[in-house]
Amino acid sequence: MLMKGKKGVVLGIANKKSIAYGIAKACQEQGAELAITYLNERFQKKLEPIAEELGCGNRLYPCDVSKPEEIVALKESLEKDFGKIDFIVHSIAFAPKEGLSGRFVDISKEAFSTAMDISVYSLIEVTQKLKPILSEEASILTLSYYGGVKYIPNYNLMGVAKAALEMTVKYLAEDLGKDGVRVNAISAGPIKTLAAAGIGDFSFMLKWNAAHAPLKKNVTIQEVGNSGMYLLSNLSSAVTGEIHYVDGGFNIMGMPAVKFDENGKPTIAWNGE
Ligand code: NAP
Repeated sequence: MLMKGKKGVVLGIANKKSIAYGIAKACQEQGAELAITYLNERFQKKLEPIAEELGCGNRLYPCDVSKPEEIVALKESLEKDFGKIDFIVHSIAFAPKEGLSGRFVDISKEAFSTAMDISVYSLIEVTQKLKPILSEEASILTLSYYGGVKYIPNYNLMGVAKAALEMTVKYLAEDLGKDGVRVNAISAGPIKTLAAAGIGDFSFMLKWNAAHAPLKKNVTIQEVGNSGMYLLSNLSSAVTGEIHYVDGGFNIMGMPAVKFDENGKPTIAWNGE
């Protein structure tokens, strides 16, 4: 039981398809005690059975990260339940629809600020406000995507947010290293979730990834969950500031593999439709 004795909070479970659910489940299976959060009352009812299943029916708290007072209240609840916590999972992102399709040049200042606030600053603020209750050797994990490193069609504003998030991970990791706290990100391959549904032509992204990743498949929330659990456990005690790819190897490809047709003409290897 790699997580026996560890207590932590998971932000970002919307349903059982959420990446955060995959991470929470992997941690629970390895003996961790959890608390989870929901965005607002509309999601509370949906999350109650999930909290029960994860063994934290009595530790389900509201936390809209755009409201600092809710992060403070979360800290107080966690302190009451656990005293100290050993890990935080930040699996949250949001960008207004205008930022996830159409022309990048047309993005408004308001959409830009909202995306950066919810998807990037929230990692700093959650860390800042929960820091007094972090145990020695605590581990913090967030979620990124390759669109923060290279251009991905339609990922647009979220790509800029993920670039900022990845650098935030590195600066936080350096700063908190002196306190023994580790901060890492998983850069996951595309997975069909609620948040992903907002990205233009997402189903094409899935096909492209599966066709061109060395492992020739898309990743699952169980696979991301297992890698997340490793980064939250003592197995990764010397790992911090890392952007760990869980994408079937897609990020290593500089060019799609080429096949040749019967006339010796090169064609792109394509497993999709
Ligand atoms: P998801 O299930 O929709 O999870 C996104 C979560 O963010 C939801 O629980 C959502 O809450 C929450 N959220 C949004 N605004 C919030 C706010 N103001 N305060 C608190 N929570 C808020 O989708 P997901 O794909 O698992 O996304 C989790 C993370 O993985 C995100 O950072 C995403 O960018 C990243 N990621 C996803 C993929 C992918 O292909 N799916 C790939 C790489 C990285 P509500 O649902 O209640 O609004």
